[in-house]
Amino acid sequence: MYTIKTLDLHFQKEGHTIASFLISDQNHRVLVETGPESTWPQLVSELRKHQLSPGDIDAVLLTHIHFDHAGAAWRLAAAGAKIYVHPLGLPHLASPEKLWRSAAKIYGEANMGKLWGNMYPIDNQNLIPTADLKAVAIGKMTFIPLHTPGHAVHHVAWKLGKNIFTGDVAGVKINDGPVVPPCPPPDVHLEDWRESMDKILAQKPDKLYLTHYGMVTNPAQHFEQLKVLLNDWAEWMKIRFQEEIPEEIIIQEFTSYTGNQMADCGANQSLRQLYELANPSWMSVSGLLRYWKLKKLGII
Ligand SMILES: [Zn+2]
Repeated sequence: MYTIKTLDLHFQKEGHTIASFLISDQNHRVLVETGPESTWPQLVSELRKHQLSPGDIDAVLLTHIHFDHAGAAWRLAAAGAKIYVHPLGLPHLASPEKLWRSAAKIYGEANMGKLWGNMYPIDNQNLIPTADLKAVAIGKMTFIPLHTPGHAVHHVAWKLGKNIFTGDVAGVKINDGPVVPPCPPPDVHLEDWRESMDKILAQKPDKLYLTHYGMVTNPAQHFEQLKVLLNDWAEWMKIRFQEEIPEEIIIQEFTSYTGNQMADCGANQSLRQLYELANPSWMSVSGLLRYWKLKKLGII
């Protein structure tokens, strides 16, 4: 048998924003997600609580290569872990310069260190590409990678028994707040995302483990709510896109629109701030506008 522990990485010193999951059987230890490198000291201290050090981790299963999920993978690889990642994400971990540059464009070069820390290349011999549904056995534990594009084209959800580690494809849900869809650029794709949600539901999981943040025990209802809100945000954005409203204005409007939605669900200001840390509103504006633009151009 195995155990699953949620490690709170305290992103930007706030709890319940980014998780890493430690799955152990008697002889093997696996991490799903590493968090960004900026939270590496916190990850090390969480491992220590379980009498572990980074060198004890056999494998890291990544859901995708965004910094908040995979930024510290190179540190685990340097300590000897095998890193499992979607084949489309793999080259960016072997040579992260392009990934870093495009993130610096989005976040601003000056903010990169504080937000994400460092990122160094991972040796190819430590990187293992996933194949959809092809089991990965680690000790007696069998993980099934479910290729689940929509949030990112290279997204993988990981199934273990009746549990599924969903990365960002099951959205963001913090504490007793609502579930919302993180829609960053460059590859949000609504149709793919809907299909991916159904693909996960078809596995009939009992529990979902969200990187932002923690365990969900009602998967069907959870995805139902996520589908409604994904649709709602996308249609809201489509209207602004068609009216060619400048992005800065849309960001202001969208931040207040989603703020009101959160308030309607009973979320207070401090919970709202956790959501903005895990899933900034401005980023979803950028991602959804890009989706509608590509759609209009017939590229997707
Ligand atoms: Zn994320």
